Order: sequence, then C-alpha cells, then structure tokens
Amino acid sequence: MSAEHCFFCQEALDALGKVIRLDGQEFKHLCRVLRAKVGDAVRLRDGAGGWAEGIVVEIGRDWAGIEVVECGRAADDRLPVTVILCRLKRDALELALHKLCEIGVSRVVPVECRRTVARSRGREARQQERWLALAISALKQSRGFYLTEIDGVHRDIASALSSLEQRTTGIVMQEHGAPPHLFDLLARMEAQGRIAVAVGPEGGFHHVELDRLHAAGFLSASLGSRVLRAETAVLVAGYLAGHFYYGKGR
Ligand code: SAH
Repeated sequence: MSAEHCFFCQEALDALGKVIRLDGQEFKHLCRVLRAKVGDAVRLRDGAGGWAEGIVVEIGRDWAGIEVVECGRAADDRLPVTVILCRLKRDALELALHKLCEIGVSRVVPVECRRTVARSRGREARQQERWLALAISALKQSRGFYLTEIDGVHRDIASALSSLEQRTTGIVMQEHGAPPHLFDLLARMEAQGRIAVAVGPEGGFHHVELDRLHAAGFLSASLGSRVLRAETAVLVAGYLAGHFYYGKGR
C-alpha cells in the first residue's frame, strides 16, 4: 500500500506515540480495500488542519491502530470562495458538491430557487450525513487539510444571502444579457474578504432572484457564450474565482 493514502479521523492528532483507532468506513478503506498490513505507513487528517504520519501497529476485526510518528497543523488550504448553488437533481448536485470539495472551496450554500426542478424529499439529517461523507472523500482524494463546509439547503435566496459573512464580494453567473466575462470582472476587483459566486438552477435564476442578488451588491458575470449546465458552471466559476482571489489575496 502506498504511504500517499490519506485517512480521516476526528481524534486529536497532536501527540507523537499516540495510537489512533480507525474504524467504520476508514477501517474498511484501509484494511478491506487497500489491504494494509502492520508496518504500513499512512497519513491521517482531521479535516480542521490537524495532520499526522502514522504506522499501522495493530489490525483488529473492525478497527486498526495507527501510531503517530509525526504530526502538525496546516494552514487553511481552502480557496476563499463561498459557492451559492441552486439545489439540483440529486446526482448532479452530489457530483457538483464532490467536485467543489475536491477543488477546495471554503463553503457551499445550497438553495431552493423558483425554478428548481428537483423535488425536496425532506430527509434533511440523512442528506447532511451523505454530504459530509462526500466532503470527507474529496478531502482524502485531494490530500487536503480542511473540510469544505456544506450548509443545509436554504429555503430561498434571501436566506442564503443573509448567511454570508460580512465583507463578501458577490458575483452571480448569468448566461444571458451580455455581462462582463468573469475573468475581466475578477481582474478589476480588489481582493477583500471572501468572494461568493452564485449559480442558478437548470431553468436559470428568476428575475426576482436576480434582483435580490443585485440589490445585495452582487455583480453579474458571464462564463462565455455557451450555456453550461449548472453543475459545469459552478465548477468553472468556483475554480476561477477561488484561484484568482487566492492569488491576489495571499
Ligand atoms: N436558462 C438556461 C439554463 C441555465 S444554466 C437555458 O437557457 O437553458 C444554469 C446556471 O448556470 C445559470 O443560472 C447560470 O448561473 C449558470 N450559467 C450557465 N452558463 C453560463 C454562462 N455561459 N455564463 C454565465 N453563467 C452561466
């Protein structure tokens, strides 16, 4: 097994010689999928900056003991971007969430829009659990240090807007009306605080929602002449805005 593999654990990773117990999904991944053996090296992450290099020292029936041989705390490696994303059909939404976590945006704010096509099934608790699992899998995959926060679904744009941090610069992606390209808009901007990008549903934002976003100071931006699916637009916008801002701000 390669020592590159990362595992998630919520225990404090702060003491050399400490033996961390991996169980549940992480144990299955380590021992059933990767067939780790005693003596193998692994990486551990707590999703809040804590990291450790460890060695497998014991393998039980449903848990493994990992001894910490090096540990530390990393700086926040997420992009300083919050993504407001209209709730999409489940598969498209989960694909978008996973990829946004992999890119490493700081926060995703899912929201019901007037033209949302997908029905809400009202299984909130289960949904948050699935989304946390997605965020953890993307963190491991991308060897990240900080988990992307994923909010519960906001009931409308007003609720999503009121949840944003102060000093957030907002940009709404608009597929019509010839707004400036996102690149040009970003080039003219000062990096201050966090940036938020908003992407609408399959049917696009309703004009009332656009009015609300504009009233809250959001500027419109284009991603080019082609109309992208929401799950494509959100990745492009999150990536471009995040990296551009990251470069300017740090
Ligand atoms: N109303 C559209 C589809 C909307 S696409 C249609 O004619 O079928 C879904 C969302 O993706 C939009 O609300 C917008 O936020 C974003 N989007 C898609 N293509 C875009 C583009 N070229 N520029 C900016 N935003 C885009």
